[in-house]
Amino acid sequence: MNRNIAVIRGDGIGPEIVNQALLVLKRVAELYGHTFTYTDVDMGGCAIDKWGDPLPQEMLQKCIESDSVLLGAVGGPKWNDVPGHMRPEKGLLRLRAGMGVYSNNRPAKIWPQLADASPLKESIVQKGIDFIIVRELIGGIYFGKHETVEENGEAVSIDELRYTESEIERIGRIGFETAQKRNKKLCSVEKSNVLDSSRLWKKVMHRLAAEYPDVELSDMLVDNCAMQIVKDPSQFDVIVTENMFGDILSDEASMITGSIGMIPSSSLGATGCGLYEPIHGSAPDIAGKDIANPIGTVLAAAMMLRYSFDMAEEADCIENAVSAVLDAGYRTGDIFSEGCKKVGCTEMGSLIIENLKKG
Ligand code: NAD
Repeated sequence: MNRNIAVIRGDGIGPEIVNQALLVLKRVAELYGHTFTYTDVDMGGCAIDKWGDPLPQEMLQKCIESDSVLLGAVGGPKWNDVPGHMRPEKGLLRLRAGMGVYSNNRPAKIWPQLADASPLKESIVQKGIDFIIVRELIGGIYFGKHETVEENGEAVSIDELRYTESEIERIGRIGFETAQKRNKKLCSVEKSNVLDSSRLWKKVMHRLAAEYPDVELSDMLVDNCAMQIVKDPSQFDVIVTENMFGDILSDEASMITGSIGMIPSSSLGATGCGLYEPIHGSAPDIAGKDIANPIGTVLAAAMMLRYSFDMAEEADCIENAVSAVLDAGYRTGDIFSEGCKKVGCTEMGSLIIENLKKG
């Protein structure tokens, strides 16, 4: 099978972790007889430096024309003081909007080998952590109008939070359909005791519930959800929520599973062309030191094979290799614990490649 992948290395640790994921894909292609070709795309701070724009239109076009996009991470302190519309993260927001990916799916699953790395008590972890957060990605407060004006001699900032019924409905359907493929429990998270957009959200979810009678729908306020994720994460199967709440809750969920460096995510819309990335940022504090954990990006590549290229066996092959390396006791610094063998980014990538076995 031939597939063209748009590759965005980005900033900070982005190039290091993406390079390891590409080496893994190269070996998988050899093992299974596929041809993956790659189109380099500049986005983020490096694109600002090179083109004066975090995502030039022709770069976005390359992504839209690809079969899927693999992204490292963008941003860093170097670009902290650039104007809002020029920030590296703006490139990412424009990429998501341009690709029309409105659903971000983040698994929060504990790897048994890393149970010790969870900051939660053993009694909580032992009950199991395995849920998915389905987050609306291209609406809400991140995409509303942002402005700072002067009123009565002081600065006033306004961020608009807007959702249409159809935007809520399409992400709601992804939530219900995801739950149908899992344990058929969907928790809709909002702040309907305060926000109008949340009251509409809740109304739409309950209207949709009638179409998915096999799924048990529950509602939870976002502040309660933040508490429940640390108190008893085993209660969740699928959480569906709006953009900003999902952003915050999915970072919290990643922490309880051990390390932010282990978790991939997929962003999908109406076409098969998805955006695959680790959930963490560009980690400028450890960039260039060859100590970043590449596993989140490697697993993002596996998700790409599974969800966009219909290559379930190849995805299993990568996930099994990661598991074998963890079983053998190898850890990058972020997931290291006493008695394990500490390795860097490149070595972790090489170990995963050595353990790739065609099933
Ligand atoms: P971050 O996720 O980059 O880092 C948070 C902490 O986790 C740091 O201590 C970092 O060293 C560690 N960490 C992250 N990934 C790791 C990995 N793979 N291996 C080992 N340790 C890892 O978050 P931040 O520091 O808040 O943000 C840094 C920059 O990244 C900012 O400019 C931010 O805007 C940007 N960002 C980008 C994305 C993206 O590109 N999707 C997402 C979040 C943040």
